[in-house]
Amino acid sequence: MDIHPDSDTCIFCRILHGEAPSAGIYRDDLVYAFMDINPINPGHCLVIPTRHCRDIYSLPEETAAAMMRLAPALTRAVKAEYQADGVNLWMANEPAAGQEVFHAHLHVIPRHVDDGVRVSMAPGPRPSVDELAQAARALASRMHCR
Ligand code: AMP
Ligand code: ZN
Repeated sequence: MDIHPDSDTCIFCRILHGEAPSAGIYRDDLVYAFMDINPINPGHCLVIPTRHCRDIYSLPEETAAAMMRLAPALTRAVKAEYQADGVNLWMANEPAAGQEVFHAHLHVIPRHVDDGVRVSMAPGPRPSVDELAQAARALASRMHCR
């Protein structure tokens, strides 16, 4: 396996290399799923790429696809095992979005009615139809940039 320059200091790389403990659920060449050490609710787990990658921006598409390919089965398992009423998938990219561990990861978080977990996303002002169309065109034209 290639050793990435960040892998000495990255806690998730240390887990992947067997240098730090984790409770593993699933592993293949591209992805690893394991229990979050500080769960928001019991059953909270993470899916990470097996190669160091800081965030979604630089994630190879095949790896991103492998992470999401695992998600339905893992989410069904979490829902069944923890009798969850719902499940959130969550990914933070960069500190402004709440990222604290800089090895890309997808949270799988079981939810229960009235569990007190707050995911508060109050919308801002509603854009006009023209503004939405302009935003869509601008994003479409940027889709190929790296
Ligand atoms: P984020 O804020 O999206 O970067 O989330 C990082 C997540 O990694 C948090 O939910 C932490 O509880 C979790 N975490 C940090 N260190 C470990 C570890 N050694 N084993 C398992 N989960 C961890
Ligand atoms: Zn890493």
